[in-house]
Amino acid sequence: MAFRIAHELSWSASRASTLASCPRRYYWDYYGSWLGWDASGDPERRQAWLLKKMTRMPMLAGQIVHDAIQRWFELRRSGGEPPEREAFIAAAVAELRRHYKDSRDGKWRQRPAKITHLAEHHYAEPRIDEGTGEAATYGATYRDRIVESLTAFLEMPELEEVRSSDPGSWLACEDMSTFDVEGVKVYAVPDFAWRDAEGVVHIWDWKTGSPRDADRFQLEVYAGYARDFWDADPERVVGYDAYLRDRRVVEVRPGSAGLEQAYRRILESLAEMRASHFDAGETAGDPEQFPRVEDARPCASCNYRELCGRG
Ligand code: SF4
Repeated sequence: MAFRIAHELSWSASRASTLASCPRRYYWDYYGSWLGWDASGDPERRQAWLLKKMTRMPMLAGQIVHDAIQRWFELRRSGGEPPEREAFIAAAVAELRRHYKDSRDGKWRQRPAKITHLAEHHYAEPRIDEGTGEAATYGATYRDRIVESLTAFLEMPELEEVRSSDPGSWLACEDMSTFDVEGVKVYAVPDFAWRDAEGVVHIWDWKTGSPRDADRFQLEVYAGYARDFWDADPERVVGYDAYLRDRRVVEVRPGSAGLEQAYRRILESLAEMRASHFDAGETAGDPEQFPRVEDARPCASCNYRELCGRG
């Protein structure tokens, strides 16, 4: 019998947010694209999977900032000197250009799971038109976002304690992990966490976009992870959203009460997911069971608009 990856229900804050924003998008992300990695399989699953793998410039810029900060910490952990500011920022900007060109030149076709494919290129959006010069303006927006975010990371006084923390006190740096809620894997990827000399656990999330309602909830979920994985007392866990471009830090102290509230939200969300869950390894299901969002405005930047007829 051929080996088959089990299609199991799992939970993450981003999965919950996708379900809340558009059930059809949730279907394509977690069901309709399942098995689409097999190029010889069902054409619609394959199409959905290729669309799922696409990114957009705001997400790409955010990922590059996260990767650069992760490398900065890894260099410190390995005993090396962090790179000079100019080299650090120039390397990240070069990454943006490389990813952009890979997408524009269609390199992603060689390895769709690994090489960047921008939805802006796929849908030939005017903002990415090199002939009119709009692409240069659009690209400069995200180059500036990277420069501003990384400069803030290096300069913000609120981050001094993090930058100078002892690598021996670090607990996580972009490590993906899971913890269990009622037998379901809950994904947690704290950007950075460390434990200070008094035993307080500090969890940081780097943000390159604008504040969202879900940001606080995300930190509360990480506090649950800290309790389960690092045996942290919930009263001694502090979360921080660092909005790098605004040079602003929002502190969250969930405590036991906040943690219980977060668990209740996870359970409610899980109940909603369970109600529509099925084994996508057995059947592709019926997308009509997952309604399209009524207000079509978010469709303009959605990867799946050609599948939804909203292109
Ligand atoms: S195109 Fe619109 S309706 Fe379709 S998945 Fe995306 S957001 Fe939902």
